[in-house]
Amino acid sequence: MDDCIFCKIIDKKIPAHVIYEDAHAVAFLDIMPRTPGHTMVIPKYHAATFLDLPDADVAPLFAAVKKVDALLAKKLMPDGMTIGINQGPASGQEVAHLHVHLMPRWLNDHGSAVQSLVNHEGEESVEEIKRKLLSS
Ligand code: 5GP
Ligand code: ZN
Repeated sequence: MDDCIFCKIIDKKIPAHVIYEDAHAVAFLDIMPRTPGHTMVIPKYHAATFLDLPDADVAPLFAAVKKVDALLAKKLMPDGMTIGINQGPASGQEVAHLHVHLMPRWLNDHGSAVQSLVNHEGEESVEEIKRKLLSS
């Protein structure tokens, strides 16, 4: 994709602090880190969201995520890691090229858990949601 900033990073047309690369994925430090070592892992071709990633490429992408997780854990020695994907503008996705955020976490970093990002319970009960999801 010509106008995709992450495709340009893959093609080395714009610089990035790459910390890991293999045949399927590239990992580079976020330009506006929310924690020290905030990294994004992206597939090496344009896929806008996780749903656009072919099934066969899910495992290679997440194998890279795990390698980067281990690298950050070993070298930065955080107390934990937040790993997440923003899918679509409603979730906060600004760059339309699939990317997995890894944010090293420390006990005193005053952050919170991913499920605390939103508090919109909705009107339907859990049972109604389940029925909807399992209906044909
Ligand atoms: P999103 O909200 O789409 O999940 O996150 C996009 C992330 O990409 C943001 O954290 C932002 O700081 C990062 N970002 C945007 N443009 C660039 C760039 O050119 N280089 C790097 N390294 N990170 C970028
Ligand atoms: Zn792209």
